[in-house]
Amino acid sequence: MTSIKEILGSTALEKVDARVLLAHLLEKHLNWPKSSLISKDSDALPESVLNDWRIFESRRLAGEPVAYILGEKSFYNIDLKVAPGVLIPRPETELLVELALSHIERASTSKPQILDLGTGSGAIALALAKNLPQAQIQGVDISEEALAIAQENAKLLGLTEQLHFLKGSWFEPIIENSQFDVIVSNPPYIRAQDHHLSSGDLRFEPVGALTDHLDGLSPYRVIFKEAKKFLKPQGLLLVEHGYDQSSILSELLAHEGWQDIQIHFDLAGIARALSAKLR
Ligand code: GLN
Repeated sequence: MTSIKEILGSTALEKVDARVLLAHLLEKHLNWPKSSLISKDSDALPESVLNDWRIFESRRLAGEPVAYILGEKSFYNIDLKVAPGVLIPRPETELLVELALSHIERASTSKPQILDLGTGSGAIALALAKNLPQAQIQGVDISEEALAIAQENAKLLGLTEQLHFLKGSWFEPIIENSQFDVIVSNPPYIRAQDHHLSSGDLRFEPVGALTDHLDGLSPYRVIFKEAKKFLKPQGLLLVEHGYDQSSILSELLAHEGWQDIQIHFDLAGIARALSAKLR
C-alpha cells in the first residue's frame, strides 16, 4: 500500500512540486480536492494514481517544468493551457495586467483597444479580455505554435470574440492607422550569453520567447520606435524587462521622445516594468 504521506515522505522532488503534481492527479483520477493532501494522507492510493505519479515524478526529476507536465498554469485570474511551444507565464508578468487595467480604469475608456506584442500563450491578452469585457485585443506572435495555443486558450475561456491573434514580427501584421489605448509587451529580453538560458526550467522553454540572441534589448528598440505610430494620444506603453535593464531602457525611452516614463516594481522589489506616454 502506498499513501500520500509515504509518497511525500520518500520522493526526491522538492516538496512544493511534489504536492502540486500529486494534487493534480488526485483531482483528475479521484476528484479529490487539494485539501485531501492532508485529510486523506494515510489512505491507500489506487494503482492508476500511482502509475501516473511515477511518470510525473521522473519527468520532473529529468528537469521538465511542472507547468509543462501538467499542461496548465494559472495566471492572474485565469487558467491557461501551456505546452513547450510557449513561455510559461510568470507571476511577475501579472504586474503588466494590473498596470494596464488601472490605466484603462483611470482613463475610463469605454471600448479599450489593446495590443499585446509577443503574446505567447496569450496570458496577458486573455487576462485583460477576461477583466475588460468591452475590450478588443490583438495579440501578435511570430510563432505559429504559440498562436495556436493562444487561440485554444481563447476558446477554452470563451473569449474568442474579444481576441484576434496575428502572426508576425512586432507591429508587422498590424493594420496601418490602428490606434490603441494600451500597447503591452513581455518580449524575449534575456541576453544571448546569459547562463540562465542553459539551466533549470528555462532549458525546456522556447528559446525565441526568452532571448533575442543578441543583447536582450533589440525588441525594445523596435517597440519604442514603432509604438509611437500606433498609440492613441493618451495611450499607455507598457513593457516588462529583465532585472538589470530598467535604467538603460528608461534612457532608450527618453531618447525616443517618450514622456511620463515610470518604473514599476515586482513583488520581489525588482524594477520589472516600464510605462510611458506620448505626452
Ligand atoms: N522572466 C523570464 C525569466 O527570466 C524571461 C521572460 C522573457 O524573456 N520575457 O525567466
